Amino acid sequence: MDEEHWKWVFTREIEEREVPHAWSFQIQEIHQKPEGWLQYTLCAFGRFCCSTCGRFWASSKVHVVFYIKMVRKTGQVMMYVFKQKCKICNTNSYEYPTFTEENIEIVINRLVTRILVKYFGKLATDEPERKFIVSGNQTGPHDRGNCEACASGVCDKGNTDPYRGPYYSVYSIYDTDETESIPDQTCCCVIL
Ligand SMILES: [Zn+2]
Ligand SMILES: [Zn+2]
Repeated sequence: MDEEHWKWVFTREIEEREVPHAWSFQIQEIHQKPEGWLQYTLCAFGRFCCSTCGRFWASSKVHVVFYIKMVRKTGQVMMYVFKQKCKICNTNSYEYPTFTEENIEIVINRLVTRILVKYFGKLATDEPERKFIVSGNQTGPHDRGNCEACASGVCDKGNTDPYRGPYYSVYSIYDTDETESIPDQTCCCVIL
């Protein structure tokens, strides 16, 4: 993950939307859930490439989790992006997704909307949510056996109909801080 680039997109969005206070942005290499931070989870569309066989696949269930904290006039954001494994190679190595520039902007746009709603009283309905740009045919279910978010209990565990029903993170059952997920009726992984 190109932390500098994500940071740059985040800072630009914070400035353009005139979010008060100073904000920092970091990417976690290893997923760690800090205590007492606001949590915001969303599903993005990303692509993967297997480092063993070179196979490409796409998924609209790439989980991105943000941890957000604001103390006085300083805000902090930490992001973790869940990885996926190639289902053909059956190795234990998780691959990082890549996102198009537009989809990075959409992820950050939603994050900043969340910050504005939670900390600055903006109404969630003020602007329509931008949809991820999906490319390639979407067929087949989410490959849960090769998804790090599923293995971590972040993907929609506990949902009786995970491919169709509304999505709930398991965190929302156990934690008091907020989790938000985007229902995605067409999510799946596909070999391209
Ligand atoms: Zn492979
Ligand atoms: Zn999953």
